[in-house]
Amino acid sequence: MAKDYYNVLGIERSASKDDIKKAFRKLAHKHHPDKKGGDEAKFKEVSEAYSILSDDKKRAQYDSYGRVFSDGQGFGGQQGDFSGFDFSGFNQGFNFEDIDLGDIFGDFFSGGGQRVKRGRDVSIDIELSFEESVFGTERKVLVHKTSVCDVCRGSGGEGGETSICEKCNGKGKVNEVRKSFLGSVAVMRECEICHGRGKVPKKKCSTCHGVGVAERRSEINIKIPVGIEDGEMIRMSQEGEAVPGGISGDLYVKIHVKKHSAFTKQGHDLVTTLNVRLTDALLGNKYTIHTLDGDIIVKVPETVTFGEILRVKERGVPYPDGKSRGNLLIKIVIELPKKLSRKAKDAIEKLREEGV
Ligand SMILES: [Zn+2]
Ligand SMILES: [Zn+2]
Repeated sequence: MAKDYYNVLGIERSASKDDIKKAFRKLAHKHHPDKKGGDEAKFKEVSEAYSILSDDKKRAQYDSYGRVFSDGQGFGGQQGDFSGFDFSGFNQGFNFEDIDLGDIFGDFFSGGGQRVKRGRDVSIDIELSFEESVFGTERKVLVHKTSVCDVCRGSGGEGGETSICEKCNGKGKVNEVRKSFLGSVAVMRECEICHGRGKVPKKKCSTCHGVGVAERRSEINIKIPVGIEDGEMIRMSQEGEAVPGGISGDLYVKIHVKKHSAFTKQGHDLVTTLNVRLTDALLGNKYTIHTLDGDIIVKVPETVTFGEILRVKERGVPYPDGKSRGNLLIKIVIELPKKLSRKAKDAIEKLREEGV
């Protein structure tokens, strides 16, 4: 049967976060194991109750199910497991006033640094020509960042032989005494010698000096998919900064597309304009259009009107499946002559007589 955490803290089920915090402070102070009359078992119990009820998610689970499901961190469901928390490190100095509970509990209950370390994300900007944005491309860029050492492939050693880290005795973690509102507290932190691996290379890699990562310029090959839009972001998993003993962050590539003098994009359609002479608009003609991928001949039908759109299939932006493309939309602009010769005027007069 699970404990009644509300009872442990002596509060109502409706207690506010503030009530919970106050009750905990009072009881933690009272039962602190290093205090005269202190009670380690009670102190643990109180701390456990607090860790559940001060966390909205865990409190909700506890209220609904009477227990908290372990999330693999801290002692959510494993009652009383104070991994990473050493009571022997307490001393007499209490200072409840100026240290935030969240700080110290972040350390107590985070499971002693079991979270996977992750390197920083890196973001870069890339400018593409309009054509590259339509048809896709590949770019090699040099990014200056902390990367996995390419000589030892992150192991930090030469030859792959390792020995137990003497500093942490192979645990990967070491105790550190920190000042807190409960006095000095021993918390676990990652060993700085082996970076949490617990092992050190027998012979250090000379390139990264045994760290496993090194700052350098890395060439990254970026595949730009077809039809990418200006302002879109490509996320490249684990191409960001590396950390020793952890996983790399991500690389974010922000795309900027240069404008084209003749074409714009509308979804998968490419849009352009075609200037046709007045007589061609009336009688029809063939025009050559320089598309992004080669010239095509389009037939302008007779009596085409201003703003009419001619559609050429399969000449637009490719679809990702590589099988089909959008359309090329050609918007007709009729160019009226700036000046008319005597002969031209006579001819047009005849048209007028015909009622055109
Ligand atoms: Zn190396
Ligand atoms: Zn170590």
